[in-house]
Amino acid sequence: MFGWFKRRRRAAIRQRPFPPAWLAIIEKNVPYAAHLPVADRAELAGQVQVFLAEKRFEGCAGLPITDEIRVTIAAHACILLLHRQTDDYPDLMSILVYPSTYLVPGGRVGPGLIADEPEARLGESWTHDVVVLAWDSVLSGAADIHDGHNVVLHEFAHQLDQESGAGDGAPVLPRRSMYLAWGRVLGHDYDELVRETLHHHRELIDRYGATNPAEFFAVVTETFFEKPRQLRAKHPDLYLQLQQFYQQDPAAFEGL
Ligand SMILES: [Zn+2]
Repeated sequence: MFGWFKRRRRAAIRQRPFPPAWLAIIEKNVPYAAHLPVADRAELAGQVQVFLAEKRFEGCAGLPITDEIRVTIAAHACILLLHRQTDDYPDLMSILVYPSTYLVPGGRVGPGLIADEPEARLGESWTHDVVVLAWDSVLSGAADIHDGHNVVLHEFAHQLDQESGAGDGAPVLPRRSMYLAWGRVLGHDYDELVRETLHHHRELIDRYGATNPAEFFAVVTETFFEKPRQLRAKHPDLYLQLQQFYQQDPAAFEGL
C-alpha cells in the first residue's frame, strides 16, 4: 500500500467516534491510561482504532475473542506508539490469545533457545508477524501498574525491536545520531544487570532482562512505563535513552 493512501485511511479511522463500550474497557482493564495526559489519551484512542482495524486476533485453545480482549491488548500495544513517527507495527499480522499460560512443546526452537521440556509461556514475539499472549497474564500484568511487569508492553517492545530487522535490543531509533549513545548506555546497563544477576543481587530491573540484549530492551520497557521514577533515579542515562526513543516522560505523569 502506498504511504499516502495508508496515512489517509488511518486518519479517517481515527476520526470515527470512539465506542463508549471500548472506553469502559480501557477504564477497567488499562489503569495505566488514566495517568496519561489528556491529549495522549485522545491520541491513544485514535491509535487503538487503527490497530483494531488492521490487526487480526485469533483465540487459541477455545478462547473466544471479545472486544474486551481486543481493546485491552490494543490499548497497551498503542501506549508504545504515542508521539512517535511509526508505521503501527507494520509487519504484525496476528495476535494469538490463549486463555492462560500455555505450554510450548519440548524441542521447539526460537532464537537462541531449544526447549527440551514443555515450557510455560506468558507471551512471545519471535517473528515479525505474530504476537502470542496468555489472556490471564495480560490482565494480571495490566492490573498492577507499579510492579514493573506487563506482558503486553514486553511483547510489543520485542515487535519494535524486530522492526529493525533483528531482535537485538536496538530498535529503529528516531535519529541516526542516537545509536552510539543507545549502544553505550544499554550495553553498560545490560552488562551490569548480568553481573548483578550472577551475584544474586536484587536489581530494580527484572533479572529476566539479563537473558540477552533483546530481553533487556523488553524488560526495561516494562520498567520505564511502570517504575519510571525509580528507573530515572537509579539509571538516569538509561531513562533518558528510553525517554528519547518512546518520546514520553512517564516519571512526570501524575501518580506513576
Ligand atoms: Zn521477551
